[in-house]
Amino acid sequence: QARRLEGVDKNIWVEFVKLATTHATVNLGQGFPDFPPPDFLREAFVRAVSGENHMLHQYTRAFGHPPLVKILAQFFGKLLGQELDPLTNVMVTVGAYQALFCCFQALVDEGDEVIIIEPFFDCYEPMVKMAGGTPVFVPLRPKAPKAGQLMSSADWQLDPAELASKFGERTKAVVLNSPNNPLGKVFSRGELELIADLCVKHDALCISDEVYEWLVYDGKEHVRIASLPGMWDRTVSIGSAGKTFSATGWKVGWTVGPTRLLQHLRTVHQNSVYHCATAAQEAVAQGFQRELERLGQADSYFAHLARELQGKRDRLVQSLDAAGMKPIVPEGTYFLVADVSAFASDVPDAPGSDEPYDSRFAKWMVKNKGLAAIPLSAFYSGPHKNDYSRFIRFCFAKEDATLKAANDILQKWK
Ligand code: PMP
Ligand code: GLN
Repeated sequence: QARRLEGVDKNIWVEFVKLATTHATVNLGQGFPDFPPPDFLREAFVRAVSGENHMLHQYTRAFGHPPLVKILAQFFGKLLGQELDPLTNVMVTVGAYQALFCCFQALVDEGDEVIIIEPFFDCYEPMVKMAGGTPVFVPLRPKAPKAGQLMSSADWQLDPAELASKFGERTKAVVLNSPNNPLGKVFSRGELELIADLCVKHDALCISDEVYEWLVYDGKEHVRIASLPGMWDRTVSIGSAGKTFSATGWKVGWTVGPTRLLQHLRTVHQNSVYHCATAAQEAVAQGFQRELERLGQADSYFAHLARELQGKRDRLVQSLDAAGMKPIVPEGTYFLVADVSAFASDVPDAPGSDEPYDSRFAKWMVKNKGLAAIPLSAFYSGPHKNDYSRFIRFCFAKEDATLKAANDILQKWK
């Protein structure tokens, strides 16, 4: 085994997906919708694979199928207020996962520090380490909610002095994930300005994982950090058709950024993956074409999905609250974190084990109640896993029948 794999071999998804497959009757664990992508997208895929243009079965351009990079440049150019060149400012990847991998491999050197905000999407840490970098963690700290109110993901905030103290000579980049998986926090403009100012001051890059960019609720605004002063030139923004069009299995993702950064991502990509499936790229291009024509209108799929998911969020919040699992109401994403400390007496003690309570709870719950969720400690670095170990994460991108089945389990608990 190569040294770069030391300590990164364990994976939460491998473990919990297997548990869910074996035991779950209701799976609110791994994040994916159990409803289909929109018809216009599925039809576009069928046309791509069964239509006249048989070239869609062959290789396409390495850095992105031309129709897809063209529409992404138009679409994100509009959102960022920036003229984008489809050939240099956009690169298509195999999901956001590969976009992240390209960023770390291309931009992080041995000895570089990369700041990661906890809790974080778990792959950031091993990816930084595999690139030879050192992750430096800074936590979102929860504030008590107002009396009688449920906690909100907005109650989890960075301490500005603590954040500033993490920046130094060796800081190469900050990873930002807004809306945040797992909390559902949508960083406010003020919070992003704080991060942006530190990036500019310390000449650091920003890897901005925005895969949940359309999933924001209650009229909240998703602010793109690349649009803040001084940030375009130092930010790679990452998106995913999996989240955007409810098609996680298609594995189409992208990066948007300045040539000075993307040219290095292209080097990693051309020497590893080369390109993402042509037909899937063609279909996603057509999906974006449709959405560009409807941007900001009620019949846009992006707007429709957020409306639907907000209702599902509210239903799951109610179910959990009624069952005594205190939900933290998310402002975005399709995840919801709930406090399960009141259930400690249900779960057998594990003397001598250093496994966090939330992990033991989630395993017990799927085996005994048939309900799958993910422990929040999975989204913390090793030394911090026991700091926030009374929460589990549920995915609510599910058919109403699935959410009802979850509710039945929760209300019949005792
Ligand atoms: N970033 C975050 C925050 C995610 O939740 C996910 C979900 N898998 C990814 C990246 C990877 O996205 P993709 O499925 O497009 O590779
Ligand atoms: N992003 C998804 C989640 O957070 C799934 C990630 C994975 O399965 N590797 O649940």
